This record gives sequence, C-alpha cells and structure tokens, in this order.
Amino acid sequence: MSKTTWIEQEIAALKEQGLFTNIRTIQSPMDGWVVIDGRQVLNFCANNYLGLANHPAIRQAAIKAIEQYGVGPGAVRTIAGTMTLHVELEERLAKFKGVEAAITFQSGFNANTATIPALVGKGDVIFSDRLNHASIIDGCRLSRAQIVAYEHNDPDDLRKKIAETPLEGKALIVSDGVFSMDGDIAPLPELYKVAEENDFLLMVDDAHGEGVLGRGGRGIVDHFGLHGKVDIEVGTMSKAFGVMGGIVAGKRVIIDWLRQRGRPFLFSSAMTVPDAAACLAAVDVLESSTEQVDRLWSNADYFKKHMNALGFDTGATETPIVPVMLGEAPLAQQFSRELFEEGVFAMAIGFPTVPQGKARIRVMNTAAHSVEDLDAGLAAFEKVGKRLGVIS
Ligand SMILES: *Cc1c(COP(=O)(O)O)cnc(C)c1O
Repeated sequence: MSKTTWIEQEIAALKEQGLFTNIRTIQSPMDGWVVIDGRQVLNFCANNYLGLANHPAIRQAAIKAIEQYGVGPGAVRTIAGTMTLHVELEERLAKFKGVEAAITFQSGFNANTATIPALVGKGDVIFSDRLNHASIIDGCRLSRAQIVAYEHNDPDDLRKKIAETPLEGKALIVSDGVFSMDGDIAPLPELYKVAEENDFLLMVDDAHGEGVLGRGGRGIVDHFGLHGKVDIEVGTMSKAFGVMGGIVAGKRVIIDWLRQRGRPFLFSSAMTVPDAAACLAAVDVLESSTEQVDRLWSNADYFKKHMNALGFDTGATETPIVPVMLGEAPLAQQFSRELFEEGVFAMAIGFPTVPQGKARIRVMNTAAHSVEDLDAGLAAFEKVGKRLGVIS
C-alpha cells in the first residue's frame, strides 16, 4: 500500500458508479459547434449563453488591448497599481447594472470567496439556500460565521430558520439567482422582504442570470425590478459574457470595503489585459442590442417545447438551462455517450453535483445555435431516448 492507494481506490469507485468525469478536449473556439476528436459536434454544454466567447468584435478588442497594454497586470492591484482598462470596466459594469459601483475579480468563484468573509465573520450568521453554488458555500465556510441552510427557494422556511436562530452579531441572506442544475429562479422579491423585516444584508449570485435575465441581460435584480434593494450582486463574466472574470455590484460603501478587505483582490493578481478588454467589449455588445438575449430565449423556448412534446421530463426550469431528467447516473452517462455518437455534446451530471437518483443531461441553450441546430439536437435526443427506452 502506498500513501496514494486510497486515491486509486476512490477513483475506481467513481468509475464503477458512473460518477467519474471524463473531460473532452476541444480543438476549436468555444461556439455553437465545436471540434472534438477531429469531429464537429453540436455544443450543448457551454455557459456561453450569448455566443460571445468567439464574437469577432470581442476577439478584436482583446487583440487590440494586448498591442496597447501587453498581456498581464504584473501583480495585485493594491501593490502594482491598476490599469485604466480595469477601472473603465468597473465603471461600465456599474452603469450597465444600474448600481453605484462595481469591483472585478479574477473569477466568479473568487468574487464569492472575497465578498462573504469581508461582510460577516465569527459571531455572525449566514442564511444560505440549501442548493447554493459551491463557491458561495466555500465563501461562507471561510468567513467562520455560523451557516444556517434553509430549504431551497423557500422564504417560509427561511423565516422559520431565522426565528429559531439566536442572533448576536450581523446576518446575511445569500442565494444563487438562477440555480444552475435545475434552471429555476430564486424568489428574490420574497427574500428581499425577509431581509428588510430583519434588517439583514441580502446577497444574490447572479452567475447564470448575468446577460440572461432582465432587460438586455441586466440580471436578476433588473428582472424583478429590485434596483437599490439588493445589497450585493455577485456575477461572472465567464458565462454569458463569454470571457472570464467575477464582478460584485452594489452600494459604493460595500465596493470600497471589498477593495480593502476582499482577500482574492488583495492577494491575487488582477484579470489579464485581454480578459478585461474583452469584457468591456462584451458590455458594448450587450448595450448596443438585445438581439443575442432575444435569440437565447426564443431558442430555449423552442427547445423545451419540443423536448416536452417528445416526452422528456425537463424539470422545473424557467431559464435557458434545460435539465433532461434521467434518474440513475449510469443511464445519464450512457445517454451522453450515445448522444455524442449522434454528433451532440451534452454532459451527464450526477451525484454529488445533483442528488442521488436525480442524474440528468443538462442542455445549455445559447444564442449561438440556429433553429436547424436545435432540430438536429432534438432528432438526436429522440433517437437515443427511444433506443434507451426513456421515451416511447
Ligand atoms: C459558475 C458560477 C460561479 C463561478 O463563476 P466563474 O467565473 O466560472 O468562477 C459562481 N457562482 C455561480 C452561481 C455559478 O454558477
């Protein structure tokens, strides 16, 4: 027995349970179709909602910025100074989202692990939706505050948990905006009411709502008309924006505080030059037209409607995320493999990302697909679904 034998055993067990993740290698730009193993396949996996990952104007902006500023930021911003690009990006993002100020991070994951520990600590309490994203959970743990999980999207249970929890310090309510595995939307107006009643901070992580929900993709706060009422909006530029980077938007005082106390801001270098420039160009694209956002939603509606007509269970989704519920993980993995043989790249998702027995194929609709693409995808789902006895 070597000291890594246990890892070999764990990996073997994952493979046996159909839970080992094989990562495909993409040999082309991220787009509606991608090349894998030398073959063009329809891409139903990416969070590239608006098809901006390979958008000509955004590519051009990144290239131009490299020519002007080079590639890297050199160090963390508090030490090596900050580039005009990052400052401009934060101003543009704040304006786009209709908030006082915004701060960027290297990723959405970092935005969460920066923000939560900067706002609450030992002696404080965090009320967190049971299905919140891993980066929220990690941010909560790093804060050393008490974590109280409430039932998913259940403001009544949140109220009950608040009533049951002795409180001496501060409190924060935190929720995903759109839940990425089911595609359902947090009841933000209700959460706001609870936060107001108790004078708690309210934070929403809008990673899957940024560029998707609201007018022209302005996010969940815009979707519900809650401007000025949600204290902290976390987001990412690695999904609909098609690039990479995290954002926190809200009151100036909170953003100022994060520049002083957000650890991934203080101890990790800034977004790269091409990332910042590409994100700026993505804001330009979003502000100039709602074309991509509109196509995203019409594609999603079309796909869902036809999947349901074929007899597939697409769960509780309210967004372009379409979970195709299959049950056991090995079936979902086999379904995914057979879809791939039919030219469709769609990932199986199983435990622990979703509960045991709730394995699924998750289809990510995007503006990068045409209706013909969707028809090709639907035909593959029909064929594999019938072959595997999922639909009749
Ligand atoms: C994807 C996601 C993140 C992480 O964003 P990155 O920019 O990829 O690090 C954070 N929170 C939620 C809810 C997400 O879905």
